[in-house]
Amino acid sequence: MTYALPGSPAPQRRPVVIVGAGPAGLTVGNVLRAAGLDCLVLETETREFIERRPRAGVLEEWAVRGLAQRGLARNLLERAELHTACEFRFAGERYRLSYAELTGCHHFVYPQPLLVTDLVREYADARGGEIRFGVRDVELHGLDTGRPAVSYTCPETGRRQVVACEFVAGCDGARGVTRASLPPERARVARHGYGIGWLALLAEAPPSSDCVLFGCHPRGFAGHMPRSPEVTRYYLQCPPGDDPGNWPHERVWAELQRRLRAAGVPPLAEGPLIEKRVLDMHDYVVEPMVFGRLFLAGDAAHLVAPVAAKGMNLALHDAFLLGDALVARLTEGDDSGLEGYSQACLRRVWDYQEFSQWLSEVYHGAAAGDPFRAGTAVARLRRLFTSPAAAAAFAEQYLGSAARY
Ligand code: FAD
Repeated sequence: MTYALPGSPAPQRRPVVIVGAGPAGLTVGNVLRAAGLDCLVLETETREFIERRPRAGVLEEWAVRGLAQRGLARNLLERAELHTACEFRFAGERYRLSYAELTGCHHFVYPQPLLVTDLVREYADARGGEIRFGVRDVELHGLDTGRPAVSYTCPETGRRQVVACEFVAGCDGARGVTRASLPPERARVARHGYGIGWLALLAEAPPSSDCVLFGCHPRGFAGHMPRSPEVTRYYLQCPPGDDPGNWPHERVWAELQRRLRAAGVPPLAEGPLIEKRVLDMHDYVVEPMVFGRLFLAGDAAHLVAPVAAKGMNLALHDAFLLGDALVARLTEGDDSGLEGYSQACLRRVWDYQEFSQWLSEVYHGAAAGDPFRAGTAVARLRRLFTSPAAAAAFAEQYLGSAARY
């Protein structure tokens, strides 16, 4: 079957088409280019937009090692800040958990736009990878045949373009189109809603601590995540679907100061809010992450609410496995990586989902309006600071450092 469209240019051919230029898609593209394989990345946004889109910032050590092994971490290793501890604040007190002492591992803090900028430069400018920005109406064809194809509307000409390929990497995030190409009878989507919102904020203000702060307060959760010496991410629990317009500057800072207050620490350093949006906190997992010649990676396959800063790490984990598996298949005819891909990704995905749920209850239990949940949330917190075994288990999950993956 061919997918030439009437009046369109003849189909092009690439071994792999990657839909989406986020951390997952760009990493897969870089792995393929390093092996001398052709591929095409299709992205709906512009290069400027993706290089500035603020989101994640916390990378686990194994993920940085994986990037470094693939020649993708030069800037990151020079510029990232290392974090070795986090701090819980509740009942007006502060409790510091030095996870690096417990695991020998630390977090790297490197804002996602910087990582995406590095990955685009390496893929397009250094490794000669092909990428089309601003494409529209991406559609997938013939995924369960040996000759799939991807079509899109070209931004310059407005015409449909068809690219025939052997494999499609669906890396187009939570709002992309590739996930919808899995027929419902061939894939299960497991969903979980937290029933709360988070007001996600970026402040032009220096961090007020050398580490991440979790405020577990009866008025709701508040989080403080250093991003750079000038910028700090904050979160405030709010009703789901709340309007960011309900959160003027003064209200945001008053609430952050209240929920993150602890004995003996100065007030938070305040500054202008440069991003303010409400996240509807939910998770999903697509199982299996494969349909015919389509392989999903990153948020296209699984969303984990930013409770434990896991999403970008999972996207990279998938991308390492998928990139390496595609190289093995296309250069040596070795199918084993692609056959085991979904299962290998999902082990870490489900572990991180479970940890995020556990931690969510610690953050939000005090404000649930249910004395039972408030009581069990405090029990979880106290256990972390009275049981070395519980602290070590927490640190292992927070760092994703278990050997079992
Ligand atoms: P994305 O980064 O979403 O990339 C997908 C790309 O596909 C985008 O560039 C998009 O424009 C493009 N696209 C979409 N539709 C199409 C289409 N039809 N055709 C072509 N292209 C398309 N994770 C962490 O690990 N640590 C954190 O600290 C953290 N903090 C976060 C804070 C916030 C506020 C948010 C929202 C998320 C956070 N995350 C965090 C999650 C993390 O940002 C995501 O998990 C990560 O971006 C997933 O990467 P991805 O490549 O799978 O998808």
